[in-house]
Amino acid sequence: MDKIIQLEGIKKTYMGKHFSVQALREINFSVKRQEMIGIMGPSGSGKTTLLNILGLIDTPTEGTYLLEGKNVSELKDKERAKLRNQTFGFVLQEFALIGQYSAEKNVMLPLQYSDFPKKEWKERSRIVLEQVGISDKQARYPAELSGGQKQRAAIARALVAESKILLADEPTGTLDSGTGREIMELFSEVRSRGKTIIIVTHDDHVAAYCDRIVRIEDGCSFTALP
Ligand code: ADP
Ligand code: MG
Repeated sequence: MDKIIQLEGIKKTYMGKHFSVQALREINFSVKRQEMIGIMGPSGSGKTTLLNILGLIDTPTEGTYLLEGKNVSELKDKERAKLRNQTFGFVLQEFALIGQYSAEKNVMLPLQYSDFPKKEWKERSRIVLEQVGISDKQARYPAELSGGQKQRAAIARALVAESKILLADEPTGTLDSGTGREIMELFSEVRSRGKTIIIVTHDDHVAAYCDRIVRIEDGCSFTALP
């Protein structure tokens, strides 16, 4: 299976009691295994909505989403949650580290929903903290980490359950440019170890690390050819 993700005619309307917002109007693109894709577009164009649909956090109103050839719109909630935990690692703005937990404990969180037995959790956490270069900071709390180190911990957490696809929403948004570059180098390294990575960004420097950019404007996708 060459294409890990295929989206066709994806639409998303948010329905409220007194409003409806058409956040995605026509999204078509696919992602190959081990590709690093950037999603770019103005504020409000639908990038986060798209990332939530990709990560099986939200469902589209219309359209087809094939994940490793499997039509995910047919899944029941419980199956979707299971597939989400097995497939995706999230580096999302809203999913910040938990302040009362050490870096190690934050990193271990996704393992609760995985098939990894509890006795392997510490070892899994050690491995990924090592991979992101902060194994010496495992006992620290988020407040005791720099911005770059926090983002490294968030990436470790996204990797810990051996997810195939990493989804990142503005992962360098709050970092200075040097630290942002270090984080992008880390993403590139993670990709070269076999992961597929999808990154929402405003930043042209981040885009330069990507194999391909999907542009979103007003809920419609425009893909540069692979
Ligand atoms: P972006 O991440 O590109 O800034 P979003 O996906 O967050 O864009 O939002 C796209 C559109 O959908 C915006 O008009 C936004 O106000 C609207 N929107 C996003 N989430 C919700 C929601 N939960 N309920 C209603 N409208 C929403
Ligand atoms: Mg957003």
